[in-house]
Amino acid sequence: MEPQRSPLLEVKGNIELKRPLAKAASRLPLSGRRLKRGPDQMEEALEPEKKRTRGLGTRVTTTHPRAAALNSAPQTQGQTAAVPRAPRKSAPRYSMAVAPVLKTQKPGPVVPAQKPGTTAAPPMVGGKKPKRPAWDLKGQLCDLNAELKCYRERKQVLDQENQQLQDQLREAKQQASVLGAERRTLEEELTRVRAQAEQGQRELGNLSARVLELEERLGTQEGLVQELQQEQLRLQEERRGLAAQLGEQERRLQTSEASLSDSQAEVASLRQAAAAREAVLAEREDRLHGLEMERRRLHNQLQELKGNIRVFCRVRPVLPGESTPSPGFLQFPSGPCGPSDPPTRLSLSRSDERRGTLSGAPAAPTRHDFSFDRVFPPGSGQDEVFEEISMLVQSALDGYPVCIFAYGQTGSGKTFTMEGGPGGDPRLEGLIPRALRHLFSVAQELRGQGWTYSFVASYVEIYNETVRDLLATGARKGQGGECEIRRAGPGSEELTVTNARYVPVSCEREVEALLHLARQNRAVARTAQNERSSRSHSVFQLQISGEHAGRGLQCAAPLSLVDLAGSERLDPGLALGPGERERLRETQAINSSLSTLGLVIMALSNKESHVPYRNSKLTYLLQNSLGGSAKMLMFVNISPLEENVSESLNSLRFASKVRSLAAPSPSGFLLTVGVCTLVLQASGTCIPKGCTFARQLTIDFWGCLN
Ligand code: ADP
Ligand code: MG
Repeated sequence: MEPQRSPLLEVKGNIELKRPLAKAASRLPLSGRRLKRGPDQMEEALEPEKKRTRGLGTRVTTTHPRAAALNSAPQTQGQTAAVPRAPRKSAPRYSMAVAPVLKTQKPGPVVPAQKPGTTAAPPMVGGKKPKRPAWDLKGQLCDLNAELKCYRERKQVLDQENQQLQDQLREAKQQASVLGAERRTLEEELTRVRAQAEQGQRELGNLSARVLELEERLGTQEGLVQELQQEQLRLQEERRGLAAQLGEQERRLQTSEASLSDSQAEVASLRQAAAAREAVLAEREDRLHGLEMERRRLHNQLQELKGNIRVFCRVRPVLPGESTPSPGFLQFPSGPCGPSDPPTRLSLSRSDERRGTLSGAPAAPTRHDFSFDRVFPPGSGQDEVFEEISMLVQSALDGYPVCIFAYGQTGSGKTFTMEGGPGGDPRLEGLIPRALRHLFSVAQELRGQGWTYSFVASYVEIYNETVRDLLATGARKGQGGECEIRRAGPGSEELTVTNARYVPVSCEREVEALLHLARQNRAVARTAQNERSSRSHSVFQLQISGEHAGRGLQCAAPLSLVDLAGSERLDPGLALGPGERERLRETQAINSSLSTLGLVIMALSNKESHVPYRNSKLTYLLQNSLGGSAKMLMFVNISPLEENVSESLNSLRFASKVRSLAAPSPSGFLLTVGVCTLVLQASGTCIPKGCTFARQLTIDFWGCLN
């Protein structure tokens, strides 16, 4: 494409085109038509002519270029021959000016008129007019007249020509003024156009810069466009891939929707089935709950039928290094169903050396028979023992207070029964760890039925009627006097030991840690016979709290496991030194608390209005675990050694008394009539009316102990 030319360039071009024309015109003879270009241009055109004329010689005057021009024309054409040569001083102007006029008018040859009387004009010699003789004045005059006449005619012609030239000059001036105005207009226009051209130039520059910038941007944009195109291609590719995926997903979705609708239908039917099952489950849950409550009731009834107070007898084995007792010293007669029946009876044969026959032969050993709820011979394992009491542990979970004692002389196996044997052998684990494991496991099972259980343990020792926390840690270890048994709050039935730790437990390991701590804390003060621990009661208590949030049920009961102090009496033959006095005091305290325990059991069995709990720290602490619906189990631990026969007999008698208080034996039953309790026995003996059963038992207990 041809670039668009600016208006300024166009005008310049026009001007350049016109200039050669003006120059060309200046070289041509001036004509009236061309003079119309304007006076200035005419002058410009005439100027070189002047210069040329000057260069021709002295004949051309500088003040009359036109005449010179007019004169020069005929000269160039060789027309000067017919024109007489005018004198230099007067004629040059006319001779030069007239020549073209004469040429145009084509005047004939000038022949001077010859006046008569004058001599004829001398013939021309060599082209020159012959000179008249001086005397021929007339002739000369005649020549002069003719010359004058000729000049006059020529003057007339020149005048006319002059007139024409002046007309032309006027006309030319007019044209010049018109052309001047036109020139000014054009110059203004030129100036304006130049300004426009400059403006255009600037704009062009700006536009060029803008164009460059835009081209640069265009380049960038093109690069971008290319990138975008590539991106577009990639996206299109991706879109195709996604479209394919979408198609696939849609197909899958359709399949899924189809299966979903199937599933929804299935879910709806399953929901219906679930609702039906839930209803059935709820009904079953109700039934289960009812059954559970019934189980609890029946279990309790069974335990009550078995007796709220039960007594088990356990005989420890003979330990290595101990003398084997004589055969028949301890016998365990079979039950009514034969050897498969768990033994409930025990026979102890005692040969009294003091007694003798009249013949001097030793008297036959006296046989003492005892009957208990269960008798465990020396070979009985810990698991066997626990199996018998696990039902009581279940009662504790059901909300019935349970208290298990281990009674017997020192070394008879009380601690072994309660805590277990040494060495951490799981087979030798005692009742406390087994009972707690059982509780945790059953509580977990009951969780499925909506029951939530929590357990809080405490372990104290009562020595010489002072209470000491066996779970104390740090600086409080070994301090006993600070602990007191108090009611948890005014009007509260719950008892608490001040300054004692009550530790929530939820697993066996926590219980093991507590037992270990208690062993560390237990007093190790040695006495003449045994450790102080044997002279104190150790009371492990577990507060069991259960809640069925769904049904708004709650149950709470303490489980107390008591390792009683050794029940042995002080040897009456022992000399009373300072240590022995202390032993005596210990023994008296132990005997007092054990008697109080017996009395409390009697009072409870007798349903007396006053139960002497406060008579000892032990019964005061255990009052919530005894009486009412509480279950009590007493282990009477027996040594198998003959040397311990006396203590064994005392223990067995005590235990028998306790048992006789609770279970109506096959040979008798309890009747309560007003304040008097009547005991009818198979033998027909009757406790006299007005004598309370408790007093009778107290007499019996003291009889046993002494
Ligand atoms: P207590 O607490 O009545 O003073 P222990 O429980 O300390 O008596 O028992 C005395 C010893 O007899 C301990 O060495 C104990 O391991 C052992 N012992 C007690 N009962 C049994 C038993 N049933 N089987 C094995 N060893 C026993
Ligand atoms: Mg012990």
